[in-house]
Amino acid sequence: MIKLAVIGYPISHSKSPVIHTSVMKELKLEYNYEAVEVKSGELSEFIKKVKNESIDGFNITMPHKIDIMEFLDDIDEEAKRYNSVNTVKYADGKLYGYNTDANGYVMSLKEAGTEFKGRNILILGAGGVVNTLSLKAVFEDSKSVTVLNRSLDKAEAICRHVKEISGKEISFGELKTEVICEKAKNADIIINATPLGMHGVEADYTDFSFFDCLKKNALVSDLIYNPEETSFLKNARLRGFKTVNGLGMLIYQALIADRIYTGIDFDLIDMKKRIYDKVK
Ligand code: NAP
Repeated sequence: MIKLAVIGYPISHSKSPVIHTSVMKELKLEYNYEAVEVKSGELSEFIKKVKNESIDGFNITMPHKIDIMEFLDDIDEEAKRYNSVNTVKYADGKLYGYNTDANGYVMSLKEAGTEFKGRNILILGAGGVVNTLSLKAVFEDSKSVTVLNRSLDKAEAICRHVKEISGKEISFGELKTEVICEKAKNADIIINATPLGMHGVEADYTDFSFFDCLKKNALVSDLIYNPEETSFLKNARLRGFKTVNGLGMLIYQALIADRIYTGIDFDLIDMKKRIYDKVK
C-alpha cells in the first residue's frame, strides 16, 4: 500500500486528492490518501506523523513551499534553484524534496505546441510561482523574460534573484495597460500569474486593450484554472489568440510527483487524458 498526502492551509478546495487518487487507481496501486490541514508553524508536527506512519510522499501547497526545506535530508538541484519544494518523498528514513511546478508548466506549454526555448516571455505578476517560472524560462534558453507587477520592488527582486542564480538579465516593469501593451509587442507567450479573475477574488483586469498589441501567433496563458476560462482568456480567445488555462500545469505537476512517489515512469500525456474528466 502506498501512503500519500497533501498539506497546506487552506486545503479543503484542493484538487490534489482527486488527481492523485485517480492516478493510483489507473496504476492499480492500493493507496491511502489524506488531505491534511497544516497551518504555518505546524510543519514539525506533520513531519513526525510522516515518520511515525511511514507516509511515502506528500505534496505541499501554500504556505509551506519554502519552510519545508529545513526539514529535508536532501533537495534536488531544481528545487534548490527555485528555493521552493512542492513534492516530498520519504524513503529509507530520509526526506527528499523536489519541485515539479516548473516542469508541469513546461508540459502544458508542450501540449499547447510551444516551449520557452527561443521565445520572448511576458509574465504578469511577481509572486512565488513567477520566481520559479522566470528561472525555468531562463534555464530553458528563452530569448527574453519580462516580469510586470503591481509592486515594482517585487518584480525587481525576482530579476535580481534570476541574475544571482543564472547570471542572466531579465527585465521588469509596472503592471499597467500601457506597459503591458509595449512589452506585448514582441511577446510569444504572455502569462497571467496574478489572481486577477480567479473564482472568489473580486479584482480583475478592467482593460484588455493590451491584447491588441500582441502578435497574432502569441500564446495566451493563465495559471488560474477556476474558472476554466477567466476574463483574461476569454478576451484573448475572442481576439483569435490560442489560450491555455492553469489546469494543465496543475495536473502535470501532480503526475510528475506521482512518478517520483511510485518510481513508475508512466506516460504523462496519456495519464492526463485518462484522468482529465474526473479532475476538471
Ligand atoms: P503570490 O505569491 O501570492 O503572488 C500574487 C501576485 O499577484 C503578486 O505579484 C501580486 O502583486 C499580484 N496581485 C495580487 N492581487 C493583485 C491585484 N489586485 N492587482 C494586481 N496584482 C495583484 O501567488 P503565486 O503563488 O505566485 O500564484 C499566482 C497565481 O498563480 C495564483 O492565481 C495561483 O492560483 C496561480 N498558480 C497556479 C498554479 C497551477 O498549478 N495552475 C500553480 C501556482 C500558482 P503584489 O506583489 O503587488 O502584491
